[in-house]
Formats: sequence, C-alpha cells, structure tokens
Amino acid sequence: HATEHAIQVHRIFKQYGRITAVNDVSFEVGQGEFVSLLGPSGCGKTTTLRMIAGFIMPSGGTIRVNGRDVTHLPPEKREVGFVFQNYALWPHMTVAENVAFGLKLRKHGKDFIRNKVEEALSVTGLSGYEDRLPRQLSGGQQQRVALARALALEPQLLLMDEPLSNLDRALRIAMRRELKQLQSRLNMTTLYVTHDQEEALSMSDRVVVMNGGEVARVARPFEIYEDPQSEFVADFVGTTNFLDGEVLRTQGGQAVVQVGNSPLQLVVDSEMPPAQGAPMRILLRPERVHVSRDRPEGANVFAATVSFIEYFGPTIRYTVEVEGKRLQAEVHNVDRPLAISSPVWVRIDPGHFRLIDRK
Ligand code: ADP
Ligand code: MG
Repeated sequence: HATEHAIQVHRIFKQYGRITAVNDVSFEVGQGEFVSLLGPSGCGKTTTLRMIAGFIMPSGGTIRVNGRDVTHLPPEKREVGFVFQNYALWPHMTVAENVAFGLKLRKHGKDFIRNKVEEALSVTGLSGYEDRLPRQLSGGQQQRVALARALALEPQLLLMDEPLSNLDRALRIAMRRELKQLQSRLNMTTLYVTHDQEEALSMSDRVVVMNGGEVARVARPFEIYEDPQSEFVADFVGTTNFLDGEVLRTQGGQAVVQVGNSPLQLVVDSEMPPAQGAPMRILLRPERVHVSRDRPEGANVFAATVSFIEYFGPTIRYTVEVEGKRLQAEVHNVDRPLAISSPVWVRIDPGHFRLIDRK
C-alpha cells in the first residue's frame, strides 16, 4: 500500500523542449531505507531528485511522500530535506546562522531555533564551530554544515545530490561512513544521488541505476554487481569481460559455449540451459578469472599470456590473452607478481559466468 513507502515515484517525466531528461521513472523508497540513484552524468538523477524536492515540476506522473500526493506542492510543504552538491551555504553567514536559516524562514521562536541548531551541529560533529564563516572551514566541514542545515528542519526524508563529490578521495571515503552511520542511527529515509558506483554500492540498501533518463535496474547492491542482467549495468558498475558466443550443446545444468572468432569453448553453469545454437553474451568479472603459474585442475583451464599489467597496490589487474581473446583478470596482490609476456594458466569456475541474451 502507498502509505508504507516514504517516497513513491510513479511514472514521472520531465521534458525540456525536445529533450526528455526523465522518461517514465518509477521507484519506491521504504521507511528508513537508504536508496541511491546511480548513473552517468546527464542520465537524469538531479532532475529526478529535484522533482521529488519540489524545485522542478514534472511534465507527468505522481510523487507521493508518506502516502500523500505532493506532486503539485511547493518545496516547503513537502517536509523534505535537501543537501546540494555545492553545499549552497551563505558565505556571509556563520555556521550557526546558516543552520538556523530554514528554521527562521519557518518563523520558529528563538529558543526553539537555538536548540535545534545546537542539536544539528552536535549530531554532525560541528559543536564549537558555531561562529565560523564557511570559508574558514574545510570542504568536509562545509559539507557537514550543509547536512546540519538540512537535519535542523527534521525532515521526514533527506535528499542528497552528490554531497561528497567535491571532496578529495580520503575525506570522501571517511564521510561516506559518517553519513551512513548517521543515517542508520537516526533511521532517516534517504535518497542519495551519485555517479560513484563505490558510494552507491557501499552505502545503499537498494540502488536505482539510471541510463538516459530511464531506470535501468532497481536492486540491492550485491544483486546489481553479481548479476547485472544487462550490458549497461554490467559496464557501468564495475569492470566486465564480455564474451559473445553460441551454445554448442547443453549437458545437465551446463552449456558449452563456443566463443565467436576463437577456438575458445567455455563450460557455463546455467539453471535453464539455453537452446543449442542460441547466441549468448557472457559476462565475467575480472576477479573471477583465476591466473596461476602452475596448471590448475578443473573445467575451463586455458593456457594464456600476460600482455598488460596495471598495478593498483592491493590488487593487480592483468590483461591476459587466451586463444586470441583478451580477458581482464584482477588478483589480490599476495603472490609474487607476474611479468609481462609470461605464460600462465587461466581458470574460470563454470558458476562464475553470467548470461544475458544477445540482441
Ligand atoms: P544528472 O544529474 O544525472 O547528471 P540531470 O538530471 O542534471 O542529469 O540532466 C538530465 C538531462 O537533462 C541532461 O541531458 C541535461 O542536459 C538535461 N537538462 C537538465 N536540466 C535542464 C534544463 N533546465 N534545460 C534543458 N535541459 C536540461
Ligand atoms: Mg546531477
């Protein structure tokens, strides 16, 4: 039922002249849930979020907040908090004044405002910074002021548009944890926009993947990563090896797939083996490609050559050539590294492929 959802977006559209920024988007956010909108730049994330906040009117569709139709309500009647990508702090106002701003607009009393500001600053770790100006704060602190300002209004739900994208990597990762812990502690329903797959996967209960104004997939992080189900999701979230082939024969719960333009034959687990001759696209994550000096036992063991090496520190990515096909293999940096051009063995567990239909 509608009232069970904190946010219910039903078939919303946004048209800018001939540009369709958001095209028939629907999803729900449950009470206390953390949901991310994830997708490349220009896919309609901000437009979707701003329609929910009330800053942009949809060209069609319905938006409900806690069961109430808010589609035609102004932002201040929606009880929704918003954290902007660039923080949008008032530069001439102190931290306390910035946080108090929305409360003053709502004509609350002085003591009430002082209490709420104090609370919001305490919760975001900013007690003691009341009298600073934004320019006297680090990027991470400014980001927290923006968050405190949203929290001070005690919104029923919090909308955030790439709130960490202006921070450097170390701070961004620290702030991810802080934000997520705060959100859990306050049990705050959150819709979070990001183009950063790590952020979406690590923080969210569920992820709405968007592409070209449309919803490509809604699922939990591990489902999105482990079984992307479409080429777009597989490509956008993580790195994927794509192999096109044809089913040679099926045996029990397995298919033998002949990879196109190559002598490579793969044994692939498949609950419902596709028909013989069916064209298949196989997805294979790089960390599922095992690389070793010694010949391993089992199915899908192939001789290969290392043709390219990317050293990341904790992991190493090898590009290996197998029967004229190029595969990405990512391994933990625990064994002696392989050298370029070295002969190696590649093994792939038949259960680690994912299949999608080839169009
Ligand atoms: P994202 O936040 O995912 O990067 P946006 O929601 O900002 O994407 O934009 C989605 C699409 O709509 C883009 O193609 C963008 O150029 C277009 N768009 C956004 N706002 C406007 C506008 N005010 N006028 C015209 N086109 C717009
Ligand atoms: Mg955006």
